[in-house]
This record gives sequence, structure tokens and C-alpha cells, in this order.
Amino acid sequence: MTKKVAIVGAGIVGATAAYQLSKKGIDVTVFDAGVGQATKAAAGIICPWLSQRRNKDWYQLVSHGAAYYPQLMDQLREDGVSELPYEQVGAYIFKHTEKQLAKVEEMAVERRVDAPMIGDVRALTPEDVACVIPGWSNPDGALYCSGGGRVDGELLVTLLLEQAEKNGARVVREKVTLEAVGEEVRVLLGEEVQAFDAVVLSSGAWVKELIEPLGYYVDVRPQKGQLIELTLKTTEDTSKWPVCMLHGEIDILPFPDGKILVGATHENTQGFDLVPDEELLNGMYEEACASLPSLKNAKRSGVRVGTRAYTSDFLPFFGEVPNTTNAFVASGLGSSGLASGVWIGECLARMAAGEEVGFSVEKYTPQNYVRKV
Ligand SMILES: Cc1cc2nc3c(=O)[nH]c(=O)nc-3n(C[C@H](O)[C@H](O)[C@H](O)COP(=O)(O)OP(=O)(O)OC[C@H]3O[C@@H](n4cnc5c(N)ncnc54)[C@H](O)[C@@H]3O)c2cc1C
Repeated sequence: MTKKVAIVGAGIVGATAAYQLSKKGIDVTVFDAGVGQATKAAAGIICPWLSQRRNKDWYQLVSHGAAYYPQLMDQLREDGVSELPYEQVGAYIFKHTEKQLAKVEEMAVERRVDAPMIGDVRALTPEDVACVIPGWSNPDGALYCSGGGRVDGELLVTLLLEQAEKNGARVVREKVTLEAVGEEVRVLLGEEVQAFDAVVLSSGAWVKELIEPLGYYVDVRPQKGQLIELTLKTTEDTSKWPVCMLHGEIDILPFPDGKILVGATHENTQGFDLVPDEELLNGMYEEACASLPSLKNAKRSGVRVGTRAYTSDFLPFFGEVPNTTNAFVASGLGSSGLASGVWIGECLARMAAGEEVGFSVEKYTPQNYVRKV
């Protein structure tokens, strides 16, 4: 009999899992509320190798995720998708001093031995950067890494779900709850109880409210993130501009047709609030204009607000929900979840299908974050 799998939450993790499970011929039902989704709001930087975060488990996960993108794009291309949401346009990371720059360069070159996708690594002067991005006026030097890229998270999720539907998956745009019958987890759509061979809980920051009623403590907190969408009137081909990671929190992400994203905030005390904060948005905008003054003439075409999930040690988790026979969970992807999310979705699809995962998942076990109380 065909295996039946439910996916609760269709951000990057759930949509990737749904796509991969549907390709295996599994009967997939996706439930997604969609409100506040981090993936839809996200900027889209895929360049984990230049991060100075020292946690090896985190690095292993995000670098696997980044390396998995070309493979996922090949699969979508084989499915006939022509407008792909991911592109390796290169990335610049800016540092105030030559010493800081030399340190990242050394780290990138060292990491390239195991991650050849990093590609060309070069230290650049502000003038070098201005040759590529006309009008660039940030005085800091930058490290260039040709393997860096960007992804349009919303488009990626849309494409993955469309392809999953073509393979027979159902997508239900509704919020659901759970019930446990012994150690089996079932899905409740309104009053209707649905049973599945496997249930994948990929509900981001909302995983806590989803699982807690089943008697669990869940170590996941919400983090508000906001960014600005600008449209720059220019004759330049912005689709080829690298992603710019400025010193500090602000990033400038060029997309085709003059679309530029500026963000994002990391707000740990706002809960699930989705109201734009003009003061913070204007602060980010001013900072971005200081690096690229032509942004002063750009039109503000939108604001995005979403909720990331983070754990107390900032590591994501994924795998079997303790004390259940059919439930899997992922959450806590934080601010690098577009990088790790596709790989986590792939691993969860393998687990839910009952296959070998082929990746050491023990370090990310939910047992450290989801406990029966
Ligand atoms: C402003 C911003 C900028 C970011 N920029 C980057 C970046 O540049 N690079 C990067 O790598 N990462 C970035 N991130 C982080 C990244 O977006 C997230 O870590 C990642 O998208 C999380 O994916 P997810 O699938 O776990 O959760 P989500 O994308 O949040 O998806 C969870 C889904 O589950 C649904 N759901 C929840 N509960 C239920 C329920 N009971 N029933 C049905 N559906 C439910 C939600 O509605 C949602 O649609 C950014 C995030 C934000 C907010």
C-alpha cells in the first residue's frame, strides 16, 4: 500500500520534504497556514562559509545545505522549471580593517578544501567593488567569494509545492492541530481527524504551540525579522551584482530588474508580532544608502516581516519526535535557515520514507529540544 505522509508547515523545510517525498511516489498531504512564514519574508543569502560563527555542527549543516542547492535546481530543471529561484552571483563580505579581512580570507581558503563550491576568493578594495556596483561608497574593503548566492525563498517554496502537486500531493492552506493516540500522532483539520504513516512537523517558530498540547516542553523561541524591498531605477544589470554583507547586521541583496532587498532585523522580544517598525526600517535604509547612495532615489516597493525560530544554543534540530512512532520535527533554523532548510527537508523526506539518511543526524536530534513533561 502507498505510504501516506502529512507535512505540517510549508516553509523551506516542509516544501522541500513534500517535493522529495512526492518524487518517491509517496502520498503527500501538506497543511500550511502561511501567516508570518519566515521563508516568504527572508532575504535570501546563501553564503555560510564566510561566517565567523565557530559552532562546527552548525557549519556542517549550513554548508551541506548550500552544497545541496545546485542539485535541487537540477531536479527542478529536469521537471521543466525554467525560471529558477537560486543563483550563484557571488558575495562580498565587508570588514572595517585589513586584519579582519585577512582573517576571513584565511578561513575561507581553509574551508574551501572541504567546500570547493566557495570558488574564487579575493580581497577587494572599495574601488574594486565600485567597478562592479557603480556608485558604491562604503569605505570598507571586501572579501569576494564567487560561490556565494541568493535564493528567492517565496518562489522556491511555490515551485516545490507546484511540482509536488503535479506528482499527486495535496496542499491544504489551513492551520491544523495534533492529537496523540498512544504514541501515534494524528492531524486535526477542524474536527476531522486524519491518520498518516508519518507526520512531518516543519512548522518553524510555531512548532511549540503545535506540540506542547501533546505534553511536550519545546525549546524554540520566535524572532521577528523585517526587511525593505526597493526598486532602483537603473540601466545596470542588477541581477549580476553580488550579495553584499555589510559589517554589522545589514545586508544588501540585488535581484534582477533593479529589485534590491535591505535587511534584516533580529528582534528577540517581539514574539509573533508582524507589524512593520518604521524606525527600525528607516535605520536600515539609511545605513544601506550610506554604502549605495543611489538607493536614495529608489522606490520603496514593499516591506516584509516574518518570524524565525531559534533555540537556546542557536542550533537547528530535526529528526524523530521522542515518544512517538510516526512523527518527525524540524525547527530552530534561525537566520541561516534558507541555507540549511533545503538539506533538512531532504533528510526529513528520507526519514519519513523509511530510508537511510546518509548524514550524521545525531548532533541535531530533537531530544535536546523537545521533551515529554
Ligand atoms: C526577514 C528575514 C530574513 C531572513 N534572511 C535569511 C537569509 O538571507 N538567509 C538565510 O539562510 N535565512 C534567512 N532567514 C531565515 C530563514 O528564512 C528561516 O530560518 C527559514 O525560512 C525557516 O524555514 P522553516 O521552514 O523552518 O519555517 P517557516 O518558513 O517559518 O515555515 C513554517 C510554516 O509553517 C506554517 N505553520 C505553522 N504552524 C502551523 C499549523 N499549526 N498548521 C499549518 N501550518 C502551520 C507557518 O504558517 C509557515 O508557513 C531570514 C528570515 C527572516 C524572517
